[in-house]
Amino acid sequence: MDFIQPASWADALAVKAEMPDAVPLAGGTDVMVELNFDARRPTALLDLTQVSELLRWEITDGWVRLGAGVSYTRIITELGGRLPGLAMAARTVGSPQIRNRGTVGGNLGTASPAGDAHPPLLAASAMIEAASATRTRMIRADDFYTGVKRNALKPEELIAAVHIPLPSGPEQFSKIGTRNAMVIAVAAFSLALHSDSRRVGTGIGSAAPTPRRAQQAEIFLAAALAEAGLWESRSQLPDSIAAEFGSLVQAAADPVDDVRGTAAYRLHALAVLARRTLAWAWHDYRRRMPGAKGA
Ligand SMILES: Cc1cc2nc3c(=O)[nH]c(=O)nc-3n(C[C@H](O)[C@H](O)[C@H](O)COP(=O)(O)OP(=O)(O)OC[C@H]3O[C@@H](n4cnc5c(N)ncnc54)[C@H](O)[C@@H]3O)c2cc1C
Repeated sequence: MDFIQPASWADALAVKAEMPDAVPLAGGTDVMVELNFDARRPTALLDLTQVSELLRWEITDGWVRLGAGVSYTRIITELGGRLPGLAMAARTVGSPQIRNRGTVGGNLGTASPAGDAHPPLLAASAMIEAASATRTRMIRADDFYTGVKRNALKPEELIAAVHIPLPSGPEQFSKIGTRNAMVIAVAAFSLALHSDSRRVGTGIGSAAPTPRRAQQAEIFLAAALAEAGLWESRSQLPDSIAAEFGSLVQAAADPVDDVRGTAAYRLHALAVLARRTLAWAWHDYRRRMPGAKGA
């Protein structure tokens, strides 16, 4: 197996153009497991850890451009206040060692339905920047997940970065596992209240062949909040709205039975997660009342 370690982004893209089968390596927390279990035997590994361009994040025009190689630990410590939904998800990933090595670029590369970064990226309407030696294109998170552990990348492409709009309202993430830490999600859910545009964003994890949004639930909640004047009044959220939102999130899922849980349990869990995250987000939204303490 060849081991190639480019020192620049241009070199990395040139290698990928020449050797489309080369397997990119970021934190290695998925790739090395596959190699160790002999689940994968690539002809070449393309180590991206020396490519400094992937390790940067910056904010331009209200969007965070997060380099594909920024670790979960850095997302938590450096961006926790700016990207609360993604940071909440990052805090639940693996252990400190996994969070030090693991990256959102790697999570997207694996594209597991259970990957924890996906629900907050979907809820935030994030865009994935994919690059080849000849061009760069932006892929909506919605269009990125194409099947179980499959994504929209072409063989000659690498993920350069993820673009995430700075949130205008509260974000929440919640995950259920078979224990409290070091656990792959049995079901996960992310919610974003985009208060500037009066929209709602959602992301379902581990309860369908791919991470996906609950679009009917988004439409319902945005309309229900608008009809009742709740975006402006920030009054108490009626239980009936939360219950219907939970049911619609559940209806958007398509889970299977597996070693971690049954489809029936996942459906039940999702409705609970949806109602809970909505309650937390709404509480947060009410506290941010213009003029209120801490707003
Ligand atoms: C003990 C343990 C616990 C874990 N717990 C969790 C958890 O709680 N939640 C969770 O979501 N995941 C978990 N994981 C899985 C893993 O840590 C994550 O998926 C992580 O985000 C992978 O990132 P990485 O940088 O290590 O990726 P790598 O292993 O380096 O790569 C993963 C995939 O992405 C591709 N890739 C990497 N970078 C790029 C790029 N720039 N462009 C294109 N393709 C690229 C690789 O070729 C590979 O296919 C766990 C893993 C372990 C070993």
